[in-house]
Amino acid sequence: MSIARKVNSVQRLFFRLEKEIHTFQNTTGLNCIAGCGKCCAKPDIEASPLEFLPWAFSIFKEGRALEVLKALTEEKSSMCHLYRPLSLTEQASGSCGDYQHRGLICRLFGYGANRDKLGQMRLITCTLIKNTFSDRYEATKTAIEKGLYVPVFTDYYQKLAQIDLKLGSKILPVNKAMKVALEEVLYYYAYRPFPKGYKKVA
Ligand code: SF4
Repeated sequence: MSIARKVNSVQRLFFRLEKEIHTFQNTTGLNCIAGCGKCCAKPDIEASPLEFLPWAFSIFKEGRALEVLKALTEEKSSMCHLYRPLSLTEQASGSCGDYQHRGLICRLFGYGANRDKLGQMRLITCTLIKNTFSDRYEATKTAIEKGLYVPVFTDYYQKLAQIDLKLGSKILPVNKAMKVALEEVLYYYAYRPFPKGYKKVA
């Protein structure tokens, strides 16, 4: 499958998830706190290269792939390369530097669930949401137990792996996942014509 088709498939999956999350947010009233970047500031975020392929492709089309690859290679911090904290002293407040192209993990966290050992759905969200919206959080837990639909991490990762098993099932630290995604795009176009409408890229 070509890179462009893989990117389209991943974006279609994201689009479907966005709709599900939107419904979940409207039903439960659970939302991220404006300006909070606590989950992005965590140093141990992991992702698959495939979920960052749309991001890598957009960087490639902007002609910045080599520059960003170099920056990722030289990156010393394990915090996500795309995270833009408000300031050095306020690392927990900030925003994503490329929200539109964020990964699957970024989309699911807070609004996705996993099955526990007993097969019960457990919402995976942050302490801040649990504490700030404790009533809504408890009501949501009960609603999920009673069958409220919630996107499931493992189901979405399975769907991702169906697009490309190698790139979709390999889980790496987030910066490494982005680097592998960029390398994948660069290798692909090393001996192929550039995407339609883009003459001077990378
Ligand atoms: S890609 Fe964006 S949303 Fe995802 S962890 Fe990095 S900064 Fe946060």
